[in-house]
Amino acid sequence: MSPPSASTWPAPSPGGAARDLKLSPVIAGTWRLHERGLDTPALVRWIEQALDAGVTTFDHADIYGGYTVESLFGAALAATPGLRRRLQIVGKCGIKLVSPARPGHRIKSYDSSRAHVLASVDASLAALRTDHLDVLLIHRPDLLMDPEELAATFRELLAAGKVLHFGVSNHAPGQLAMLRKRHPLVTNQIEFSVLQMRALADGTLEQCVDLGLRPMIWSPLGGGRLLWGSDEQVLRVRATLAELGAAHGGASVATMAYAWLMRHPSRPWPIAGSGRIEGLREAMAATAIRLSAEDWYRVWQASIGFEVP
Ligand code: NAP
Repeated sequence: MSPPSASTWPAPSPGGAARDLKLSPVIAGTWRLHERGLDTPALVRWIEQALDAGVTTFDHADIYGGYTVESLFGAALAATPGLRRRLQIVGKCGIKLVSPARPGHRIKSYDSSRAHVLASVDASLAALRTDHLDVLLIHRPDLLMDPEELAATFRELLAAGKVLHFGVSNHAPGQLAMLRKRHPLVTNQIEFSVLQMRALADGTLEQCVDLGLRPMIWSPLGGGRLLWGSDEQVLRVRATLAELGAAHGGASVATMAYAWLMRHPSRPWPIAGSGRIEGLREAMAATAIRLSAEDWYRVWQASIGFEVP
């Protein structure tokens, strides 16, 4: 890919809206990829099956698998000519883990300095065997962030054609607003699910609606707890979702949990953590379901344990 000109590509969206960003309605997460013991041909098959299921966007971070997952994925891309052009990559940086792969890191900490972000992106591009990330997120809010320096770093990465869009992850509304004043952002990647509703209460999702930022949702099934958990909240929510699923053509509990998330007006992009293609298909099935407001509140009530005041 030839480096895009910073002045023409991507057309900076007024207000930082994500209009010129095309991702699949469900994103595949790669956090647990290294645990599955796939060799390169098996990983290529998994990626191609995900694409066939309509999931074309893959969520990465430099630290996944202790700095190993990007290289696994990169080997699959390198082994398959043309594969990179059929998918989009979300990358993250800003967390420094103590790891043999990064001998310079002495304690776990956050770093959004120009030097760290540029070095992280270069390392991610090399590991992923690609020349650009479609989206780069700052993984966690750096308490020492200099928003002017970070915005200038984003402009530098955009001008070099190494990153096409920028966003944040796990940022409080004030932290996001501070950075967005200085550079367009396309998303806040946050935790949200039928079991974890903090983002509905702390202004995070209202800010996304207000600014036209589509949130990316991590642990959309509570890290799997929705399916295997046995506490009272899980039992209530699972029973409610099963009932709603029966009324929606026998849709699974997982599908209904995704449909509940996707009903929010911020139009979330859920990141499915399942390693199974069927798990991705169950997530994609939710795109065909629109819950009524009453059914949405039934699930809310089952999760919180009481009706709205
Ligand atoms: P999740 O989808 O809530 O949980 C995935 C787990 O649920 C897997 O162990 C999966 O097992 C299990 N599961 C899914 N469907 C199931 C079913 N029908 N029955 C039983 N188990 C089922 O998501 P997550 O993995 O916690 O997070 C998703 C992605 O978000 C990660 O991969 C990562 O990309 C991203 N993430 C970002 C952050 C951040 O700070 N930005 C933090 C955490 C995660 P199977 O593989 O067997 O289906």
